[in-house]
Amino acid sequence: MRPVIGITCSLEQNTDRSYLAQDYVRAVEAAGGVPVALPVLKNVALVPQHLSGIDGLLLSGGVDVDPRFFGEEPQPWLGEITPERDWYELELVGQALERKTPMLAICRGMQVLNIAAGGSIHQDISRGVRNSLKHSQQAPRWYPSHCVDILPGTRLAAIFQNAPLRVNSFHHQAVKLPAPGFAVTARSSDGVIEAIEHMAAVFTLGVQFHPECMWERDKIFLELFRALVEAASVANNPA
Ligand code: MN
Repeated sequence: MRPVIGITCSLEQNTDRSYLAQDYVRAVEAAGGVPVALPVLKNVALVPQHLSGIDGLLLSGGVDVDPRFFGEEPQPWLGEITPERDWYELELVGQALERKTPMLAICRGMQVLNIAAGGSIHQDISRGVRNSLKHSQQAPRWYPSHCVDILPGTRLAAIFQNAPLRVNSFHHQAVKLPAPGFAVTARSSDGVIEAIEHMAAVFTLGVQFHPECMWERDKIFLELFRALVEAASVANNPA
């Protein structure tokens, strides 16, 4: 049996729709998993059932997180927020961490992961980081617009075989203080955190870039999804 990978959905508030970009689905399928969509639930008491139906979790990207969830008031440069999605995903991720569900967190997903585990984020990079690079690229989704330095000896370094990496970039927020238990595993040259991972054995990895938009042109990016599916497969078939 292929492992089941739950993928979180975006919430489109003005049209009242859940949606999931198909490139996440294709990536999980190509990596050997069975993707299932996890829509935002109102009743967070149902989160354990969402989690018991999956072997691994993929947190998709999306809009900003309500700063109340990391103890701040909203600054003028905060973008759109979807509080119902935040509420559901923070519960989902908190419980997934406890259950040691393998997790790959992309962009907003990495910020949600960090907040759920007790870290904080910049509400806007250009206000929080001096001389920051352009992290909201105006280029095709697949185009790798800036470099990242990966910390050797990490899961991320193993996945990318220590190759120098250029990534795409569609974010104006970023991890500020990594949560306890997490290591920063990649940064861009301006110091912005581009990846984190949990230092314990379970696969819990966040990236600020969008590998789902890149793997069809550069196969190395599929390895992130393969690593998630492999970890989920172990979780699915414990020895
Ligand atoms: Mn970036």
